[in-house]
Amino acid sequence: MFHLGIDLGGTNIVAGIVNEKYEIVAKASCKTAVPRPEAEICDSMAALCKEVVKKAGIKMADIKEIGIGVPGAINPATGVVEYSANLFFHNWDLGEMMSERLDKRILIENDANAAAYGEFLAGSAKGATNSITITLGTGVGAGIIIDGKIYSGSNYAGAEMGHMVIVMDGRECNCGRRGCWETYASATGLINMTKEAILGERADSSYMLKALDGDISKVNGITAFDAMRNGDATGAAVVEKYIKYLGCGIVNAINIFQPDILSIGGGISHEGETLLAPLRAYVERERYTKHNDKQTVICAATLGNDAGIIGAAMLRPVKK
Ligand SMILES: [Zn+2]
Repeated sequence: MFHLGIDLGGTNIVAGIVNEKYEIVAKASCKTAVPRPEAEICDSMAALCKEVVKKAGIKMADIKEIGIGVPGAINPATGVVEYSANLFFHNWDLGEMMSERLDKRILIENDANAAAYGEFLAGSAKGATNSITITLGTGVGAGIIIDGKIYSGSNYAGAEMGHMVIVMDGRECNCGRRGCWETYASATGLINMTKEAILGERADSSYMLKALDGDISKVNGITAFDAMRNGDATGAAVVEKYIKYLGCGIVNAINIFQPDILSIGGGISHEGETLLAPLRAYVERERYTKHNDKQTVICAATLGNDAGIIGAAMLRPVKK
């Protein structure tokens, strides 16, 4: 038995065939190229499905259902994408439009939830009963698995941990609030913090500015980490501050959910123990359950972009 999962992203669409061991046996991708009409995106996805089935050497009849991970507020019960800021769509009947094209049952899920489910089934959170996977990117994506199932609340819009406030009246967030976790703990948050630190230094003696050839717009998620590795005190201070912000939200999540495993994905997670060791130390100091024998394991996510494909491929229908 094979499964087909699609990760519909703002930049790329990737389809994959997944076997019973949760391994991707074939992949195909194309550019999302938004903005363009919903029907065209469905045509592209349907073409990718046919291509990937062929690549895997199987037949469409071998696939029972197709799962799609979509950024934004989606309704898995109706198959409707209610709102997707990245894809510029409101009330898109994605399930219906795709089943018309492929004559299959279509299951949809929020992309961060699908990625968390993939990590739970086959990656960093394998073997857990309850897990959380967060992704540090433009924002902070999060997915919560409780008793082996995706938890997204009564209206499927839950698990938006990136929008919990950790600094009252803090940085402005796209959601309209101030001080949301993602404005500090995302890659964007780290980049902003790094730029501010550089602007606070004397230009002629800033290590980071020199490393960027004087061009502050070149700051990325590893600028401060690299500076720290090279003995720069400003870079080290940025990393320390960033880890505190990241850790603050993680402690909040652990205090509420007490997952077996909390895994972290996204480019910054490639820092590995440079990020994780001080993060664990922070969480150990701050967590409510200091005296419990069993504690949440904090680790890096392992599947990268494949998590969303595997999670989408393995989605189960939800009750209406
Ligand atoms: Zn927010």
